[in-house]
Amino acid sequence: VKIIRSIPKMQEYARALKKQKRSIGLVPTMGALHAGHISLIRQARKDNAKVVVSIFVNPIQFGPQEDFKKYPRVFAQDAKICRHEGVDIIFYPSVKDMYKNNYRTYVFVEKLSQNLCGAFRPGHFQGVATAVNKLFNIAQPDRAYFGQKDAQQAVIIKKMAEDLNMPVEIKVMPTVRANNGLALSSRNAYLSEGARQDAALIYEALDLARSLIKKGDYKTADIIGAMQKLISKNKNIKIQYLLIVDLKDLKPIYRIKSGVLIAIAAFIGELRLIDNIVVDRKGRFISV
Ligand code: AMP
Repeated sequence: VKIIRSIPKMQEYARALKKQKRSIGLVPTMGALHAGHISLIRQARKDNAKVVVSIFVNPIQFGPQEDFKKYPRVFAQDAKICRHEGVDIIFYPSVKDMYKNNYRTYVFVEKLSQNLCGAFRPGHFQGVATAVNKLFNIAQPDRAYFGQKDAQQAVIIKKMAEDLNMPVEIKVMPTVRANNGLALSSRNAYLSEGARQDAALIYEALDLARSLIKKGDYKTADIIGAMQKLISKNKNIKIQYLLIVDLKDLKPIYRIKSGVLIAIAAFIGELRLIDNIVVDRKGRFISV
């Protein structure tokens, strides 16, 4: 695996591959890689001649009270995983190179960025869209890979690529979970063993929603009520939001008629976790 830190060098490499008509798959990450990231890398390897994994903890997507400073940074371990997975390039830029002193330009996907997580993390998705846009311009991927774990992010990136005519295919991969159902996340490193068990209730609630939909219960207020009741059994979990929304505009739905995103954000102590499922009217898993 080759490690590239310089933006011009990464662009040069991408240009050379383009000339040879060899495809590039990009997996944007913030590092602290786990099996969720690995599933994106493996799909990228299947689809493309070369795979670039970017590792960049993007300061502009963190709020002032959030964990930018203490976000896990384990580059040596990440590089080992990338080597093992046959990644061709790790693109590992510095914050200073990505955002020079006179940095002025931001990408904002309106409406979709303002509800769900966007309502509680102002500026977050503008930070994400801006960084991803920059990574696309630098690595020039034919395809880019995102996890459904961050469903709103995936919807926003797809919309950005469509609206701005970006010549890249956005692929969204299923959420990888621990045995107890907990969605893998770099931030799970902050959880104690007990908290990890508490957190499993989040997926249990999503699974309950799915079984209700399978039974033909389409009133979202009822489904949300049942989920809230289940989660409230554990006093260590505080729900921030629990919504059933339309897949296209991410607006709340009152009665399920087609595919929906069921999304939760919850606190376990100080740590904020998110999870979701995307299902059709029969409760079958679909993709965003
Ligand atoms: P992050 O490093 O957290 O910014 O995540 C990088 C990419 O990996 C994003 O597209 C995430 O949605 C994706 N990802 C994170 N966790 C998972 C997971 N458990 N399953 C699948 N994809 C994931």
